[in-house]
Amino acid sequence: MENLWNKENVEQRYDLPFMDLLFQAQGVHREHFDPNQMQLSSLFSIKTGACPEDCKYCAQSGHFKTKLKKEKLLPFDFVLAQAKAAKAAGATRFCMGAAWRSPPKKDLPKVCEMIGAVKDLGLETCVTLGMLDVEATQALKDAGLDYYNHNLDTSPEYYKKIISTRTYQDRIDTLNRVHQAGIKTCCGGIVGMGESKDDRINFLLELSKLDTPPASIPINKLAPIEGTPLGETPPIDDFEIVRIIAVTRIMFPKSHVRLTAGRDTLSEAVQTLCFFAGANSIFFGEEGKLFASSNPESDQDHILFDKLGMTVEAVDVA
Ligand code: SAM
Ligand code: SF4
Repeated sequence: MENLWNKENVEQRYDLPFMDLLFQAQGVHREHFDPNQMQLSSLFSIKTGACPEDCKYCAQSGHFKTKLKKEKLLPFDFVLAQAKAAKAAGATRFCMGAAWRSPPKKDLPKVCEMIGAVKDLGLETCVTLGMLDVEATQALKDAGLDYYNHNLDTSPEYYKKIISTRTYQDRIDTLNRVHQAGIKTCCGGIVGMGESKDDRINFLLELSKLDTPPASIPINKLAPIEGTPLGETPPIDDFEIVRIIAVTRIMFPKSHVRLTAGRDTLSEAVQTLCFFAGANSIFFGEEGKLFASSNPESDQDHILFDKLGMTVEAVDVA
């Protein structure tokens, strides 16, 4: 599929007067989605901390001293109970994350068993396990996995300042393997790490160069974690979050755009601006934890959705 995007036309969108940008984004959003529907995902850490990678934003990295309690791979029954609770609370997708560079051979079959059981609950399944080789990718496909999360996070240029234990190309290689195996990709990034506007534009351009547009695009607002190198980073202006959501929506009209980490720091009004700009998916969590950064409690989300007349998007478990 021809990629229509380039630095100029993305920057042209990004720099539009705010009202024009949102008007355009909402128009694109309405062409492909019901603007009053929200996809609800629940994110759960199945293996926490002691990650060998050095992502400067991450509480899970073994390179930094954070308050996060390390946990080995959790037992099957405990994870399944969390998935049942997530479904009861209204989530339609259950996302299991493990702080690995790549899934260990001894643990991958256990994760595949979890995927099958979560799918049997009628939930969409997603995992984020780090980098994958062809064999691990196929095992996840055989287990019935619906989505694989693997974020590009920022521009190739800025990436080198954030992560040194792997390359940008490593990420793209895993994403292409996941796509070739027929698993839907979930790939997005983080804003507010000290990157420039150019970096944000180049990040979106890299997403547009992938073999296929990601089915889900999480846009995270940096949640500064004490003990990580980015722990003292000042917050990004809320309007920049809305802008990048709107440009993401215009560039990826058929993808779900997820307003992810840092959402609890956004007022209901700013969250609503993000929804108007085309964000139509959130992490929704009883435990209110998003990998050591907090997340609004589900009651707060239900109250907001009632105010907005928003309903939950039905599950699509193919
Ligand atoms: N270990 C998996 C990997 O690296 O692919 C992903 C686990 S992590 C929870 C998933 C994503 O959450 C990361 O790729 C990053 O974009 C986002 N994330 C992690 N820590 C964050 C933070 N402190 N603030 C904002 N986003 C964060
Ligand atoms: Fe490890 Fe993923 Fe955190 Fe990076 S983002 S430190 S790979 S858990």
